[in-house]
Amino acid sequence: MKRYSVFAIAREALRQHAGWERAWASPSPRARYDVVIVGAGGHGLATAYYLGKNHGITNVAVLDKGWLGGGNTGRNTTIIRSNYLQDPSAAIYEKSRALYETLSQDLNYNIMFSPRGVMMLAQTEHEVRGYLRTERANALQGVDTRFITPREVKRLVPIIRLDGPRYPVLGALWQERAGTARHDAVAWGYARACSAMGMHIIQNCAVTGVESAGGQVTAVHTTQGSIGCGKLGIVVAGHSGALADMAGFRLPVESVALQALVSEPIKPCMDVVVMANTVHGYMSQSDKGEMVIGGGADHFNNYTQRGSWQHVEETVRALVETFPMLSRLKMLRQWGGIVDMTGDRSPIISKTPLSGCFINCGWGTGGFKAIPGSGWAMAELMAKGESPLAEAFSLTRFREGRFIDESVAAGVAH
Ligand SMILES: Cc1cc2nc3c(=O)[nH]c(=O)nc-3n(C[C@H](O)[C@H](O)[C@H](O)COP(=O)(O)OP(=O)(O)OC[C@H]3O[C@@H](n4cnc5c(N)ncnc54)[C@H](O)[C@@H]3O)c2cc1C
Repeated sequence: MKRYSVFAIAREALRQHAGWERAWASPSPRARYDVVIVGAGGHGLATAYYLGKNHGITNVAVLDKGWLGGGNTGRNTTIIRSNYLQDPSAAIYEKSRALYETLSQDLNYNIMFSPRGVMMLAQTEHEVRGYLRTERANALQGVDTRFITPREVKRLVPIIRLDGPRYPVLGALWQERAGTARHDAVAWGYARACSAMGMHIIQNCAVTGVESAGGQVTAVHTTQGSIGCGKLGIVVAGHSGALADMAGFRLPVESVALQALVSEPIKPCMDVVVMANTVHGYMSQSDKGEMVIGGGADHFNNYTQRGSWQHVEETVRALVETFPMLSRLKMLRQWGGIVDMTGDRSPIISKTPLSGCFINCGWGTGGFKAIPGSGWAMAELMAKGESPLAEAFSLTRFREGRFIDESVAAGVAH
């Protein structure tokens, strides 16, 4: 793989950009791999990358039924933060946030990480108490957050209205090194690095069945034929239930569509990310100038990767109270992605009842921020059979009642 650098750009500029290589290869599948990962979203690709980088395992294929990054990884609103409440969550999300800081250099691919700061507005007394609790928990966990006053909120976000008729802004939980990144670039950067290590990324290859012998996984059936594997990683977000069914076990997850929308581009007016749990909406401004707005999840289970009028209306109506300037903007486009929700709103990174088969899912509305940390932990689990970061997120917690309740931290879809 040729390195991207300022010298490479200068060289290519002089020769009409004729020398750029394809970022990743498109090989035909081999008969067998040491590891097969199903799902070329951020989590699947990051798992493959850290299997190679941290554990020297490179005979790996990553299969996707569509195009890489075409699932939720390419559909989210790109918020990255680690201000969760429980210790296991803070550990994995903070590991992830820290990896994001240097991911562009690590992958030699500009993922446009922008640590612009994320604030979660407190608009009821209950939220004030909840965020003060999170601030103190974060202090003990080594996560840098602080509760800020309405005056500081206004200084950071001049377009905000503090004295809304129903929900005045009473303060906010502020994480200064949180922010955003370009979501496609995260998938592309990992894919390029995996391909450079000799791994196979095989697109348009849907897995239709899982084969086992004596309780051990042996192969997957795909639309491009049967592919043998020593170990199998299932990393398919909203389709986790379907894949688990193929592998012969059930998951405590529900799949629903989560929606987002963007406005027409306007001049820079807000350089932080704002989340408003009470009215249920969140917003940042993209580099192109669009206001990127996230709404809630559908209230019924479905596999529909589409937006709906009702969500646009509900979300914008909620946010207009706190951001009156939104009422003057035209909305440009909307979309949806299928997210996989667990009851405690925490992920699953786990061995499964089928030996050699591992699962990474349940990131629900908030897994983009977790991609590097989750890949790191899943790779360790697959390579060594255990991972300190993943331990608390095992499937057994649902049987044993060791829930990791993050319904407040994940209360607004983000
Ligand atoms: C509208 C929206 C906004 C969001 N906003 C945020 C946010 O701001 N911050 C945040 O942290 N998170 C956010 N999220 C959540 C985040 O996007 C997801 O948690 C994360 O992207 C999941 O990544 P993944 O790699 O697990 O799944 P995906 O990116 O969905 O990848 C799974 C892949 O599996 C493939 N697949 C499925 N079935 C099969 C099969 N049978 N065979 C082969 N391949 C298969 C799919 O094609 C897909 O490419 C948001 C999600 C949505 C939808």
